Amino acid sequence: MASSIVLNGSEGRPVTVNTGLFIDNEFVPSSGNATIDIENPSTGAHLATISAAQKEDIDRAVASSEKAFSTWKTSAPGVRRGLMNALADLIEKHAWELASLEAIDAGILYSDSMGLHIPQTVENLRYFSGWADKVDGQSLTIAEGFAYTRREPIGVCAGIVPWNSPLMITSWKLSPALAAGNTIILKTPELCPLFGQKLAQLVVEAGFPPGVINIVCGLGTVAGAALSEHMRVKKLSFTGSPAVGRQIMATSARTNLKKVTLELGGKGPSIVFDDADFEKALFWTTMGISVNNGQVCIAGSRIYVQDTIYDKFIKEFSARASKAVHGDPLLSTTTKGPVISAVQRERILSFVEKGLESGGALLHGGKAIDGPGHFIANTAFANVDQSASIMQQEIFGPFASIASFKTEEEVIAKANDSVYGLSAAVFTTNLDRAFRVTEAIEAGQVTVNMWGTVNANTPFGGVKESGIGREMGKDALDDWTTVKSVKYNLKM
Ligand code: NAD
Repeated sequence: MASSIVLNGSEGRPVTVNTGLFIDNEFVPSSGNATIDIENPSTGAHLATISAAQKEDIDRAVASSEKAFSTWKTSAPGVRRGLMNALADLIEKHAWELASLEAIDAGILYSDSMGLHIPQTVENLRYFSGWADKVDGQSLTIAEGFAYTRREPIGVCAGIVPWNSPLMITSWKLSPALAAGNTIILKTPELCPLFGQKLAQLVVEAGFPPGVINIVCGLGTVAGAALSEHMRVKKLSFTGSPAVGRQIMATSARTNLKKVTLELGGKGPSIVFDDADFEKALFWTTMGISVNNGQVCIAGSRIYVQDTIYDKFIKEFSARASKAVHGDPLLSTTTKGPVISAVQRERILSFVEKGLESGGALLHGGKAIDGPGHFIANTAFANVDQSASIMQQEIFGPFASIASFKTEEEVIAKANDSVYGLSAAVFTTNLDRAFRVTEAIEAGQVTVNMWGTVNANTPFGGVKESGIGREMGKDALDDWTTVKSVKYNLKM
């Protein structure tokens, strides 16, 4: 099975995607014609049937990537830059199709995709295209003469992508990988692979040589595992759950010690001091837990508010955060789509009982929305104990856990009392306090008076159990290259 299907996109316009695995610039059936059925999370109805990569298909993809690497690694930087910009242009041109696909198979609001995910994707490609001719080493003086370092591509790389912002996260891996001269196999999420099927068409149209970018959908336990075990994959960049991240690291240790970078979970604290611009803090904290239904690794899912403004804050936060227009993510009138699956909806709801058991006060939500699809009401608990599971575990849904604090020291200790360290937000108008708190917080990213921006030129990644390595920014290039020292004897 390697055909194409037509789906209904924004305003009923048709979007055509191929259903096969994208290997060597061709759409091919999977070995044994294995497939995966995809559903539309807004309706629960069957949406598409897509080829599912098996171990043999991953072997084929690796062979194709290896062949492509032999010439891609020495391609002129200008060639790589040109192709990356051509792909960025095509993504802009086909933005409505990509946004439609993210809406119908990931439940992402069309407006969010058009306004954030696609511009971010384009920006990442353009930003890293500019690095293609700047992946430089150092020139050094040594006793024997001189030396220089070369930042070289690693070889065949793999990127394993989650379902929550699939196109944008793909671009975080694809862009630095290509700029550095690697070839890459992207494993798209089995719950929503359609964006990748469309992206593959654009890769051909942009003119990339066969095998530089291979895109395969498949089960994590089959295709993902085959990539992580593969002896000829030299680097694997994984975004997903901490449990799978740990397995991937262990697999690397057991197989070929491939370089592994991990972007894992989070339980982001949003800290509101009483000297904050109240309106600004309300706006960003609400956004921080409602964007993409809170299915965001940097979600501001723990909200700590200074006791002097606590009662006022929870009243106004609840009035604002409980409002949502649930519906079809393709429609501009919808402000909240479904969560990704029935399993995920039940998992999120299971935390409502846990929140009540731990003595938290349910402020709003806590239930599914009647009707088809996986809709869930925005949910918030107040007066949450620091040790409660809803304050400690990543729920990955529209679920806020709120607590008060008295002092700066207390809130820093609470914010750092987490196995995670991905992102945090601080709301204050006191500059000295902003410096002190941002320094003390254990996280890869701290925002002041805003929540959660991602910028192509700014490194992104976690500390503690949130991950290893950085995506975006110049630092990401270090993770997609290896350093060779070349030494010349001029004296002996
Ligand atoms: P997941 O770990 O279930 O799946 C992520 C990807 O890994 C999917 O493509 C899946 O097919 C694959 N996979 C699953 N099992 C595998 C295995 N054994 N070997 C190899 N690959 C395997 O995660 P998810 O549910 O898709 O995503 C949600 C998680 O991702 C959350 O914990 C969230 O915080 C995290 N996340 C992190 C970031 C970040 O940048 N730090 C960004 C987005 C999501």
